[in-house]
Amino acid sequence: MSSCTGSYASFSDTRLGYFDTVCTLTGYAPTRADFESAADDVFALIEECNRLFDIYNDYDGVNNIKTINDNAGREAVRVDEKIIGLLGFSLGMCEETDGALNVMIGALTKVWHDCRDADDNRLPSETALEEAAAHISPDALVIDRDNSTVYITDPLASLDVGAVAKGYAARLILEMLPGTPLTSAVINLGGNIVTYGTKPDGDPWKVAVERGDSGEYLNVYELTDRSVVTSGDYQRYYEVDGVRYHHIIDPVTRYPSDKCSQVSIICSDPALADAMSTALFVAGPENAVGLIEKYSLYVVWVGSDGVHESGSVSGQ
Ligand code: AMP
Ligand code: MG
Repeated sequence: MSSCTGSYASFSDTRLGYFDTVCTLTGYAPTRADFESAADDVFALIEECNRLFDIYNDYDGVNNIKTINDNAGREAVRVDEKIIGLLGFSLGMCEETDGALNVMIGALTKVWHDCRDADDNRLPSETALEEAAAHISPDALVIDRDNSTVYITDPLASLDVGAVAKGYAARLILEMLPGTPLTSAVINLGGNIVTYGTKPDGDPWKVAVERGDSGEYLNVYELTDRSVVTSGDYQRYYEVDGVRYHHIIDPVTRYPSDKCSQVSIICSDPALADAMSTALFVAGPENAVGLIEKYSLYVVWVGSDGVHESGSVSGQ
């Protein structure tokens, strides 16, 4: 697909199979060949991040997050610097959010995940939740930057990077864009939207935020160098006795968080947007004021009492 503005044309490329979702790159470049070479570089990086941040699959010759989990309580695993970066960022966010965003939550999310995937529509037992919650301490994650290794000291603990992996990959892509022929671009990495630069005529990109999966827009934002990420209770869930149990777990209650039904974040760093969308979904509006100010976030909340917004889109 392409269209022309001055000496730049816009092109788009969509590919499947990464992060279990759809990835689209749209951007302006002098020629189609320029766009295609940039797209190949962008998708190669997405593919690499997909392999490194995977918690379910092994890849020949690759030490990924699954390798770290498989070696919990056994030995430290030497990993790529992108994993060190992702986990260092995630531990920092865990501290900043008082544990609302905790990538060491794997034991607990696995209990819910297994029930969601089972055919018999049952809830996890209290015992299973309690046992799992005894193994979600971020202190069990040891990152050795000098030796590029990661070690989980608790054999029953595991990493779940689902809340941050796409956003962190998007941050790495954003960092590489200035070295490509693209003058401006939008990346949609499974709902993590990154805007880069303005269009050749100086116009910002337009990004719509949907209300749940209703097809209705909450708003359309005009953005330059901003990322948009949404966490919602409608994205992955199952139902037991008419009650919806979704995929974002409050580490304190051990149950899906019920403080709101959707949180969208706009800020300049896609990794921060992804981490904060999950964290603020768990923490709820009343506990978010400090983080919104500290990180200059714009937040749209959808709850049982309607739609609210906090912060400012361009306040950075
Ligand atoms: P997101 O869609 O970015 O909000 O991420 C949701 C995913 O993050 C879930 O599917 C789990 O894999 C994982 N997750 C759930 N609860 C938490 C939590 N409290 N902290 C960190 N990760 C979580
Ligand atoms: Mg997230």
